[in-house]
Amino acid sequence: MISRNVSLKKYNTFKIGGNAKLFAEPKTIRDIKDLFLFCRQNNEKFFILGAGSNVLFGDEGFDGLVIKIGKHFETGKSLHTLIQTAADKGLGGIEKLEGIPGTIGGAIFMNASAHGQQISDCIESVVSVTIYGEIITRTKEECKCAYRNSVFRMLDESILSAEFNFVPMAKDVINKNRKEVLAWRREKQPLKYPNAGSVFKNPTNNIPLADSRVSAGYLIDSCGLKGCRVGDAQVSELHANFIVNRGSATAKDVKALIKKVTQTVKDAHGVDLETEIIVATG
Ligand SMILES: Cc1cc2nc3c(=O)[nH]c(=O)nc-3n(C[C@H](O)[C@H](O)[C@H](O)COP(=O)(O)OP(=O)(O)OC[C@H]3O[C@@H](n4cnc5c(N)ncnc54)[C@H](O)[C@@H]3O)c2cc1C
Repeated sequence: MISRNVSLKKYNTFKIGGNAKLFAEPKTIRDIKDLFLFCRQNNEKFFILGAGSNVLFGDEGFDGLVIKIGKHFETGKSLHTLIQTAADKGLGGIEKLEGIPGTIGGAIFMNASAHGQQISDCIESVVSVTIYGEIITRTKEECKCAYRNSVFRMLDESILSAEFNFVPMAKDVINKNRKEVLAWRREKQPLKYPNAGSVFKNPTNNIPLADSRVSAGYLIDSCGLKGCRVGDAQVSELHANFIVNRGSATAKDVKALIKKVTQTVKDAHGVDLETEIIVATG
């Protein structure tokens, strides 16, 4: 079940990263439990991977086990599949997340959101497995979802499945919403180059309201950083909060560019930008 020295480039949307020392694609919950046991017994680090659409792996790779949660698990399926399945039944509530290229598990972990909807709006409960092999069901409240955050960010668990409470809606309204957000993404996002979505979180003004956020993209753009490049990593000319891989960008390039953007925005606006993408260390 475990492979060695697997290139991580094809497992993330940035198309960046060295090799995973160990790599596995479990098919059953038993497999995941066995992989966790293996890591505990052999003192190996692990990283749970979904579609890799919000991850930056290092050029040196990952010195441990990457566990890829794929289609054998409900949460390894794409967010698009969930939205489509719900839409077919006249159920909406997260249809504006259409176009987010991740898995259901990754969306729950990150509490993916767009256009005023977040996946946690419709979560009823989430089932996960701990590194000790326990299966835990958490209610929506226990998932503690917040802006790009959930309880899972603090836990070593693999999210296995979830129950949702969607909103009954007319199918044509759901599908109109989906079409509109997809058109918006095609126009506003640099989809022709590999990227990992928004690199930075939108900072808050110390006011705990969603609409109090100042857009990170606006701050970066106002510093004239669109197009700024380190090696083949470039601040997108289309959307300042995206870093794109113009060919053979390395993680080192991306990290140097992140540092440059962070420092420039801090100097100009006094704002500390925080990264949204997960930098997989190890
Ligand atoms: C073009 C583009 C547009 C994007 N637009 C948006 C947007 O509008 N809104 C938004 O919120 N995000 C957006 N993203 C970011 C990204 O798609 C989301 O965060 C997505 O939910 C990540 O899912 P994933 O399966 O790719 O997770 P990955 O990138 O594989 O992993 C992200 C994190 O989740 C953890 N994880 C993944 N699956 C599991 C699991 N089953 N169990 C436990 N932990 C898990 C990983 O360990 C990692 O820490 C965009 C990305 C791209 C490339």
